[in-house]
Amino acid sequence: MGSKTFFFPAPVPAERADLLRIHSAEHVDRIAATAGRPFDSLDPDTSTSPRSYEAACLAAGAVVEATRQVCGGGSGNAFALVRPPGHHAERGWTKGFCLFNNVAVAAAYALEELGLQRVLIVDWDLHHGNGTQNSFYQSDRVLYFSTHMFPYFPGSGTLAEQGAGRGEGYNLNVPLSGGMNDAAYAAIFNQILVPVARQFEPELIMVSAGYDIYHGDPLGTMAVTEAGFAYLTRVVKDLVNEMCDGRLVLTLEGGYSFQGLRDGVLASLGELSGEALLPGLESRISPLVEARFGASGNLSSDSLAAIRRAYAPRWHI
Ligand SMILES: [Zn+2]
Repeated sequence: MGSKTFFFPAPVPAERADLLRIHSAEHVDRIAATAGRPFDSLDPDTSTSPRSYEAACLAAGAVVEATRQVCGGGSGNAFALVRPPGHHAERGWTKGFCLFNNVAVAAAYALEELGLQRVLIVDWDLHHGNGTQNSFYQSDRVLYFSTHMFPYFPGSGTLAEQGAGRGEGYNLNVPLSGGMNDAAYAAIFNQILVPVARQFEPELIMVSAGYDIYHGDPLGTMAVTEAGFAYLTRVVKDLVNEMCDGRLVLTLEGGYSFQGLRDGVLASLGELSGEALLPGLESRISPLVEARFGASGNLSSDSLAAIRRAYAPRWHI
């Protein structure tokens, strides 16, 4: 992008010790064993080619490095533009194109290596991040907040899955029917995520940024536009400016429309950098601010009330 605003650090593969905070040794070994092999099928959706293991280590490593730099004060925020994605990967198995859980590996690194006490993970991918949820289900140090289509792959992500033990109340799912537009997402972020985040007081916010909620995505039926992606990014950026000294790390999850992926990522990068990268976008973002005042797009007020009711016992929302 030839801009002084962006810089591109060299990717660094994740250390085995970093992967082992989230994954079993058997799982890491199983992925490592695919290196150099022409083809392996690890589950019905997930197969590998000779360099998949290398790519997966670089993907997890990039999110770790982004987190290290953002928390070290070297950079205000970062976007790890990686594949394969990560949020479906479980401790002991792959799922849904995901080999290692990049965002979970980096959040665990932030807690154990950087000394952070609380990390908020926001997951706006079309699909529920089962692997991320399960990685921190019993922890009160990582709050997982996911909006996703439901019922849909991978099948988890109900309002009732709220965490266990010390983690009870620190897992917030917002299951949605298809068709949700920019204003619906804006309302959920403004009316549920923002107040919960202010009470949780994270020191770092990470985003599993999936662009498969784009209106033209072939895997989904959500109706989010470039303006919506910019606005959701703006909401989390405002939160980190308010509470986390600007520490924000986005990592790429899904997104299967090339146009949606390109323009959605540019919309987010525009917000992260403060540079207008998509002409005319600002005028399309402004109406979304109305969601702060009660508008909820095509999400019914009954649905919004049900989400609020599910979490109101623990959080003031
Ligand atoms: Zn997805």
